[in-house]
Amino acid sequence: MSNIVIVFDFDKTIIDCDSDNWVIDELGFTDLFNQLLPTMPWNSLMDKMMMELHSEGVTIEDIEKVLHRIPIHNRIIPAIKSAHALGCDLRIVSDANMFFIQTILKHLEISQYFSEINTNPGYVNQEGRLRILPYHDFNNASHGCTLCPPNMCKGIIVDRIQSSISVLENKRFIYLGDGAGDYCPTLRLKERDFMMPRKNFPVWDLICKDPSLIKAEIHGWCDGEELEQVLIQLINKITIEENAQFISSDCKLQNLSISVLESLPKVLPVQP
Ligand SMILES: [Mg+2]
Ligand SMILES: [Zn+2]
Repeated sequence: MSNIVIVFDFDKTIIDCDSDNWVIDELGFTDLFNQLLPTMPWNSLMDKMMMELHSEGVTIEDIEKVLHRIPIHNRIIPAIKSAHALGCDLRIVSDANMFFIQTILKHLEISQYFSEINTNPGYVNQEGRLRILPYHDFNNASHGCTLCPPNMCKGIIVDRIQSSISVLENKRFIYLGDGAGDYCPTLRLKERDFMMPRKNFPVWDLICKDPSLIKAEIHGWCDGEELEQVLIQLINKITIEENAQFISSDCKLQNLSISVLESLPKVLPVQP
């Protein structure tokens, strides 16, 4: 196991489209979706749209079939497999939903590479209708972050992941994302972490407005091919750095123990 935690956004990062839009568009509900979008939060609208789909006779199997055709760049799966093989801990933080993500990961046979999926709950209820709920129950209380949509603050999730890992483990984060929702977690990354924004997507534009606000090192990518190259380079770079540090701290420790020994009085004074 390496000391690297890789946090992936899902839509337009792992897959090459937005899974919500993909399902709505492929099943022919785009007009209704666009008509209702100004009236409620995105996440609440997705739940409502699933009710509409259900009442129009669209089944869970229909939704699954559409998800199985999701576009993904051909270098993404090799990138995920390589990162996992190099001992990294892979996690997903996404504003899509659990049903879409699990259906897609299972179909692509890559579920086993991720240790955690943080996303909006999504499940099939007794009537065979897909329910999509907010990750953060904003009807109860706000999460308090003004940068993020009411149902999810990815920054709070990244904070939770960072604090769940003991300081002793000295973990380093690589965060990959494209959307405006990926900006808040970008601000929470530390000096030794890495941010991989998708070039010319909303998070890239937000970072470019004032890069001095970001403590992490920034490495852009434009497609799956570049994502793979940059990600593997960063993993190698961190691994070399950590090994070098390990060796040098070993040396320091040796020097220290010699100097400590030398500085110790040869004969302990006897207390009167
Ligand atoms: Mg995204
Ligand atoms: Zn936030």
